[in-house]
Amino acid sequence: MGAALPTPAVKDIHRVESAIAAHSDEFIALRRDIHQHPELSFQEHRTSALVAERLAAWGYEVTTGIAGTGVVGTLRRGPGKRLGIRADMDALPIQESTGLAYASRNAGVMHACGHDGHTAILLAAARFLAQSGVFSGTLHLIFQPAEELGAGAKKMIDEGLFERFPCDAVFGLHNWPCVGAGHVGCVSGPAMAAIDQAHITVRGKGGHGAQPHETVDPVVAAAHLITALQTIVARNVDPLDMGVVTVGSIHGGEASNVIPGSVALKLTARSFKPEVRALLQRRIPALAKAQAESFGAVAEVDYRLGFPPVVNHEAETAFAREVALDTFGPSLVDAAFRPRTASEDFAFMLQARPGSYVFFGNGDSASLHSPNYDFNDAILAPAAVYWVRLAERFLSFDAATEEHKEPTP
Ligand SMILES: [Zn+2]
Ligand SMILES: [Zn+2]
Repeated sequence: MGAALPTPAVKDIHRVESAIAAHSDEFIALRRDIHQHPELSFQEHRTSALVAERLAAWGYEVTTGIAGTGVVGTLRRGPGKRLGIRADMDALPIQESTGLAYASRNAGVMHACGHDGHTAILLAAARFLAQSGVFSGTLHLIFQPAEELGAGAKKMIDEGLFERFPCDAVFGLHNWPCVGAGHVGCVSGPAMAAIDQAHITVRGKGGHGAQPHETVDPVVAAAHLITALQTIVARNVDPLDMGVVTVGSIHGGEASNVIPGSVALKLTARSFKPEVRALLQRRIPALAKAQAESFGAVAEVDYRLGFPPVVNHEAETAFAREVALDTFGPSLVDAAFRPRTASEDFAFMLQARPGSYVFFGNGDSASLHSPNYDFNDAILAPAAVYWVRLAERFLSFDAATEEHKEPTP
């Protein structure tokens, strides 16, 4: 534990824990209600209305309609810093197969990433902070749409999120399957990857499968290309850096005896560092074009930049870790948590403001985006306690006094 930390205030932890625990059944029921009524990105109308209604009832200034369905709840309590905490609200186009009593009632739509849980966690913290929170400063609770499209955070920022609701720092969390329930993972620096896509069309000259010499076979060219693409990570990326090139889709031809005119490939490219991201963006099209040309074919490459890596700021990550250590003790805090190669559009918020994104263990559950996944209700209360303690410490009266101390003449 860092030397800067005061002795853990056992009584203080108990004050928050017991109050959150007293309402935990209510928030588990709320989480399951959201789970039963999942909504796709930018269509979170019911969820957004529910969030706004609760926040207003607890005395928050509520702003709706940011990026469509986004909501910000604000509490102002005297002088001090300004804190942003973000939760995501959207579900995925997946048919749920958990068989749970509270399974999705919307066919083909499912909370398979636990955003139902993230929303309920922040609401549980919101209630406590409004009714019993001890702090001075301004609290902005940001409920974001469309994380799964990688579009909601950027749209909120483009619509003036941080100008309308200035934040000195912004924090977020994600539940993480197969990490012990309630374990907190903190990563300083890159924590999740940049995500880009390449759509490649290899065009040749189709013809009879029995007369290949009269064709330019795009299937053979594509096969060589797929193999060659593996050399980008193996031979071009620095072995100490992270890069992923995955061909997730290949389509070409219909019949065994017909050589098609073209083959279409779809790739995902992941990286942590800007220089690796730029290298993938350069090498994938170059290799595709050269490989196709070597077979007399042509490759058209549509390279689509997705979103940047989640890069946690050092000071805010140290702060988030200290809060976790103070709240849960060292056995539940994984200070050397490994970065993940999944992606998250909270990246845009961390480009705009300092902050940190932490991982909260979901226990032994199915993976995120699986039709069998479910958010672990046992972590709802501890995660809410974490947000409360982070907010109270960030917006402590000490910090408020420091901030507003008159300069000595
Ligand atoms: Zn997801
Ligand atoms: Zn998610």
